[in-house]
Amino acid sequence: MTALLEVEDLKVAYGKIEAVKGISFTVDEGEVVTLIGTNGAGKTTTLRTISGLLKPLSGRITFNGEPLRKYRADQIVSLGLAHSPEGRHIFPRMTIEDNLRLGAYLRNDSDGINKDIQRAYDLFPILGERRKQAAGTLSGGEQQMLAMGRALMSQPKLLMLDEPSMGLSPIMMQKIMETIVELKNQGTTILLVEQNAQAALSLADQGHVMEVGNIVLSGTGTNLLTDESVRKAYLGED
Ligand code: ATP
Repeated sequence: MTALLEVEDLKVAYGKIEAVKGISFTVDEGEVVTLIGTNGAGKTTTLRTISGLLKPLSGRITFNGEPLRKYRADQIVSLGLAHSPEGRHIFPRMTIEDNLRLGAYLRNDSDGINKDIQRAYDLFPILGERRKQAAGTLSGGEQQMLAMGRALMSQPKLLMLDEPSMGLSPIMMQKIMETIVELKNQGTTILLVEQNAQAALSLADQGHVMEVGNIVLSGTGTNLLTDESVRKAYLGED
């Protein structure tokens, strides 16, 4: 089986600072793959490069058999790759429903769009209850839900989530993680970047540990969760 996403020897730099130093990994259809690691490891840079927001120094990114190098960020979305960025980036003055509709800007099947808006409300009922309110009135966790719902509106083949648990209460975090499992069960392929290694590895099929621009360890979520070095470095055990 060929991978849905293949990243090969990817290097990305900001001027002289090499933030990603030659990483390789794949995401197969239907899988949840997570990149974990501390601040500054290069996780966000990796996602932004896959999305076409940053240009790589070298390496190859292939999505659904297509080399991504020749595509702009908006074209990459239309190939089926959606990105829910760190810090959410919702539009606070627009209503929740209009924020969702924006996620479908490349589509013109209004029946399908309405159905997917309903699907977002089924996943996150609070969004439906408040559909006509300005998105800026939502709590941080609710805004995270909206960002995920909006990313899903492009009907992606691959959903990339950058730190969906950031800044959330334990209950909200639990809810977000449950939704990721639900999306996985519905067949969505997900690349998840998380600092919360415990939560991410618990639900991921595959995980990669990043440190200062490199992948230093890879394995199944279960194997990494029980790996002694991971437990010491990322799960706060002595
Ligand atoms: P975090 O969880 O804190 O977001 P991360 O693993 O996602 O961490 P990145 O945000 O990808 O890490 O950052 C990787 C490195 O690149 C860091 O050293 C960071 O300081 C640097 N970096 C990130 N963005 C820029 C930028 N716009 N200009 C210069 N350096 C940057």
